Amino acid sequence: MQIIQIPCLQDNYAVLIHNDATGETILFDAPEHDAIAKVLTANGWNLTAILLTHYHLDHIQGVSSLMAQFGGTIYGSAINSAGLGFALQTIDETGQLTVAGLDIQIFDTPGHKSDHICFYVAQLKMAVVADVIFSLGCGRLLDGSAAQLFNSIQKLQNLPDDTMLYCGHEYTASNGQFARAVEPNNVALRARLAEVKTLRNQGKPTLPTSLAAEQASNPFLRTNSAEIRQNLNMPHATELEVFTKLRQMKDNF
Ligand code: ZN
Ligand code: FE
Repeated sequence: MQIIQIPCLQDNYAVLIHNDATGETILFDAPEHDAIAKVLTANGWNLTAILLTHYHLDHIQGVSSLMAQFGGTIYGSAINSAGLGFALQTIDETGQLTVAGLDIQIFDTPGHKSDHICFYVAQLKMAVVADVIFSLGCGRLLDGSAAQLFNSIQKLQNLPDDTMLYCGHEYTASNGQFARAVEPNNVALRARLAEVKTLRNQGKPTLPTSLAAEQASNPFLRTNSAEIRQNLNMPHATELEVFTKLRQMKDNF
């Protein structure tokens, strides 16, 4: 099995999984055609499936042209799926998907967008979380509530600690400024910020990241942190209340 994270557009990522045993290939999100086509062509691969996390343009713009060139069945949420300009198989967390020899678990993860779903591949210890969890941050609330996004993140928090999270955007450095502002004494966060600076100076991605690393450094997964609660003056608030406040603060940061 090969997992390839492909930088697209300004700061997006797509992810390819290639099964060497069967020759099949899965694409997660299609922010653009060219960057993804280049990798497929260089390897001589066609597409077995394109799995979509949500229907923002920066995640689906390449779908039609990639499918025309490389084939593949498209899967995505039924929500908001009318009028996308391509036919797709609809999926949600009540169903199990097996593609390219991989069992893929689906999570309904509204909050950023009501059509957002995430994918977990236990065999590869990886999850495609797109615009739900970013490293050191989380998605903005575009058509959902803080409670919805909080619940969506909680589902993903139940995955094994060593799950590698494939996020939709390279936002880590800017997210880190907010994370540092709300939890300046977090040692794991400081170490992550130093690592991020080094990686970005070398032009390298900061992703994927592990769930364990995010639980140690990402304020949106740390709504129990005493330091964050003290800085927000919310020592006795619920985790959802802390999360909601953090999301509001980040929007205005
Ligand atoms: Zn999005
Ligand atoms: Fe996005």
